[in-house]
Amino acid sequence: MSQYHGIDYHVGNTPLIRLRRLSELTGCEILGKAEFMNPGGSVKDRAALGIITDAEANGRLKPGSTIVEGTAGNTGIGLTVIGHAKGYRSHIVIPETQAPEKIQLLRTLGATVQTVPEKPYKDPSNYNHIARRFAEEKGWFWANQFDNTANRLAHYRTTGPEIWQQTGGAVNAFVASVGTGGTLAGTALFLKERNPQVAVVCADPFGAAMWSWFTHGNTETNDGDSVAEGIGQGRVTKNLEGIQVDCAYRIEDQIALTIINQLLREEGLFLGLSSGINIAGAVRLARERGPGQTIVTILCDSGHKYQSKLFNATWLAAQKLDPQLPLESILV
Ligand code: PMP
Repeated sequence: MSQYHGIDYHVGNTPLIRLRRLSELTGCEILGKAEFMNPGGSVKDRAALGIITDAEANGRLKPGSTIVEGTAGNTGIGLTVIGHAKGYRSHIVIPETQAPEKIQLLRTLGATVQTVPEKPYKDPSNYNHIARRFAEEKGWFWANQFDNTANRLAHYRTTGPEIWQQTGGAVNAFVASVGTGGTLAGTALFLKERNPQVAVVCADPFGAAMWSWFTHGNTETNDGDSVAEGIGQGRVTKNLEGIQVDCAYRIEDQIALTIINQLLREEGLFLGLSSGINIAGAVRLARERGPGQTIVTILCDSGHKYQSKLFNATWLAAQKLDPQLPLESILV
């Protein structure tokens, strides 16, 4: 055995980055886990590796098999990159509304990519159901990130312990938005086990039902809309089952956009909008609980994947979003 390893070994162990201005403005340590530094460029590499390893162990994934998945992009990228390192092929079903950069990247990486119209989960032509039917028809392995709890287990085994170790156990709160819920649930389970006083917080975009679920126990309030990709869940996935949070916030896209632009201009961090939603949640908690907290959140992926949208003035203007607002505008 060599002492050196391929890229599948190098998922996780990401740095914890201090967000300087927001930390100074709140008197807290606002820290972001740099998940964009994973081999496939997002937090979803952890889930992809966890799902693949679990399926290998229980015999559902055989050498040379094809992995099929419905994904907003990042899970597909993770499954393709890690899959190639381990000798698998991938077939990705993705809603056509997702950023063209992600769709192009999946094709370049060598996945076969099928773009489909965006449909709600209850519709049989929703991207997840299409992926499941493909697996059934072709005998492929369906990763099933939403309801396969190998996803949250990966975060329980890696993201949680890393945060605990990197903060020397001083973490006071963990904030995450929800796509599948794997990141929030797995990390929360680990941190609460270590210290039940760690606050777990859900930052939800408009148009999703997780704020409603965690605050009122129903998924009825899912009004409004968000341009954030990869998050915005309307149902309680298996990865979220049994999970409780200390509080949940609804975050406006404009606030998240203001944050990612400040970080880009002043701190050299180039992030996607779900990272901005997460950081906005961390800032709200800091303001509510006051100075002195160590608050950790997730920098899910990089802005590279969204240049034609989030960093395109014409597109932003059509969404009535302003990239120039000062950071102080979000603290009023
Ligand atoms: N941000 C981005 C950009 C994502 O792609 C995802 C995953 N879909 C998330 C956040 C949320 O992660 P999770 O699925 O673990 O809830």
